[in-house]
Amino acid sequence: MTATLITGANKGLGYETARRLIAAGHTVYLGSRDAERGHRAAEQLGARLVLLDTTDDASVRAAVEAVRADGGLDVLINNAGVEGRGENNAVIGAADVTAAHMRQTFETNVFGAVRVLHAFLPLLQRSAAPVVVNVSSGLASLARLTTPGTPAYAYPGVAYPASKTAVNMITVQYAKAFPAMRINAVEPGFTKTDLNGNTGVQTVEQGAEIIVRMAQVGPDGPTGGYFDSEGPLPW
Ligand code: NAP
Repeated sequence: MTATLITGANKGLGYETARRLIAAGHTVYLGSRDAERGHRAAEQLGARLVLLDTTDDASVRAAVEAVRADGGLDVLINNAGVEGRGENNAVIGAADVTAAHMRQTFETNVFGAVRVLHAFLPLLQRSAAPVVVNVSSGLASLARLTTPGTPAYAYPGVAYPASKTAVNMITVQYAKAFPAMRINAVEPGFTKTDLNGNTGVQTVEQGAEIIVRMAQVGPDGPTGGYFDSEGPLPW
């Protein structure tokens, strides 16, 4: 039985990914920083709740202990993320972005992902087929954001795309360092969730597709890549 932890799985893409992987036979540890929201989601899905705030060392340590005590981990899905929009759901562009906003965004999207990955490495290394999926974004792509005419080019935000570009680089470097693991970054696509004030155009079912697929990648599958549901993306 494959044991899978999904951070930030109490709603949105993480929740849908949990639903699909449970249906595929995984034992899913549903990460949630809030006990009540987490209990509700885990109960609805038949997942095991793991209280986990990715920005908090003690919380992540306790989560590792809980998963270790329960038997270990094969798949880690670094899904918890924030976009950090401003008033009226406005994207914070170059004129308004502050160091504090950058720090807040990186705290979850970048430092949180590394904190979790670093803490779970010993458990993953004990797995026969360890897999990491870093939920990135199409907005991570320097190629896209520098190509006029692509939808991503018009996105004015600074902190969020910068944080996801960092996630991509982290993916590449970890994949090289741990060749026995399959470690990939994925772009779900612009999906209707609370992250973007429900302005996305895809359903969570569509968005979760590539996360679910890369969570089930076999030992001969790709590593160190960046994919959406149609295939590899330009960095
Ligand atoms: P969402 O519905 O807002 O869900 C985000 C999840 O992350 C929630 O469960 C949230 O928990 C959790 N979270 C935030 N900060 C956390 C922390 N410090 N510790 C633990 N959990 C935390 O957003 P989503 O769209 O499903 O986003 C999931 C991932 O997909 C993110 O990494 C996002 O960047 C990425 N993504 C989304 C889109 C899109 O269009 N939606 C596109 C590309 C990539 P709470 O409920 O407690 O806030």
